[in-house]
Amino acid sequence: MKSNICRYCYKEIRDRDELITASNWFRLRPFHYRCFELLEQDTRTIAGNWSPVNGSAGNVTTVLMTILAVWMLATNALGLIGDLLGIIALYPILLRVLSFFVYEMKLPKYIENNPHK
Ligand SMILES: [Zn+2]
Repeated sequence: MKSNICRYCYKEIRDRDELITASNWFRLRPFHYRCFELLEQDTRTIAGNWSPVNGSAGNVTTVLMTILAVWMLATNALGLIGDLLGIIALYPILLRVLSFFVYEMKLPKYIENNPHK
């Protein structure tokens, strides 16, 4: 089974430029960039929010969470609560890594004349 099928329109995602991976609780799904915008409008009232994992917003989150996780786990800041925060902060990092290996790695960075754009 191909993994790079948009979960919104069920068509293939051709390159990284149009790929958005999004998480909703413990689910990680690939979408087209455009479909994700539609999905956001759709699910705001029904199924809760999907938050983008890749792209610049996701990367900023990943960097911040990495700093937080390292800081909380490597030091004694806030004690037990700090350790807990550190573990929680690892979750978006894990999603980002997973997103890269499961979806992004298999896609070319950019395809000329992509029919989906
Ligand atoms: Zn789509």
